[in-house]
Amino acid sequence: MNALEKLRRSVVLLESFGIEDACREAELILSHCIKTDRVTIYRDNPRVTESTLRDIDEMLQRRKKREPLQYIFGQTDFYGLTIKVGQGTLIPRPETELLAEAAVRTIPNVKFNNSRLRFLDLCTGSGAIALALAKAFPDSQVYGTDISEIAIKYARENAEISGMENVTFLQGSLFEPVRKMVTDYDLRFTFDLITANPPYIKSSDIAGLQPEIRDWEPVGALDGGEDGLDYYRAIIPEARNYLKESGALLFELGTGQADAVKKMAAEAGYHGISVIKDYAGIERIFISHRGYP
Ligand code: GLN
Repeated sequence: MNALEKLRRSVVLLESFGIEDACREAELILSHCIKTDRVTIYRDNPRVTESTLRDIDEMLQRRKKREPLQYIFGQTDFYGLTIKVGQGTLIPRPETELLAEAAVRTIPNVKFNNSRLRFLDLCTGSGAIALALAKAFPDSQVYGTDISEIAIKYARENAEISGMENVTFLQGSLFEPVRKMVTDYDLRFTFDLITANPPYIKSSDIAGLQPEIRDWEPVGALDGGEDGLDYYRAIIPEARNYLKESGALLFELGTGQADAVKKMAAEAGYHGISVIKDYAGIERIFISHRGYP
């Protein structure tokens, strides 16, 4: 069968599964399996081998069960990096790139001497934010922590795939792995930046999420407690103990959470608090500075 015929049939099938963006998804699945780009498919209409047809069919059947395309492909792009993902790790979203970009832009303001930049990414998941920082600042030392063993496994693999040697991933709850390092080595472990895209969905909203998220992505990476703010409440006061005086704390936020998080940070003594909107106009990225005591 030729590619365009398979493409046509795949679109029909995906539509019958109720997939909204059937045409784009079919193009992505075919391009992935044929190992070409969509332009080549439309221009050359190459012949598709039997084994490739089987690969395509297998992926279409996985989409029928609403498995996210990124899990089916086993990877996604983030900040120009290829990030391996699979069940047990949250798929990095385009909005989260805004957090990485904001973190990179914050650095000239927090760096005040020539010591090695040190970053901490909490709830690191697949390691996307930590790896983006490691890429942007090759001389920095980046740490990523996550409570999930599976996530840390993916994060370490992603560090290896991207060839990033200045990142260390540690399993444990929030600051716990770093706290341990402080006592182990008896040195004050302070950071120029602390970043986090923590779970921020209200517990009661989880059931109403789209099936790709609700049935496939790890609930532990989504559920932020009753009001969705549990992790901000835990991180904001404690982060001050781990930030340099010039250091900054950055978060990704859930919809409608900016005011509550700003208030928490102001009460904890942070300065220079600001928020950046995402492509949809939602206040998505939170930035604050530790400030001098
Ligand atoms: N951005 C994710 C979503 O919309 C949530 C990720 C999170 O809780 N940090 O489903």
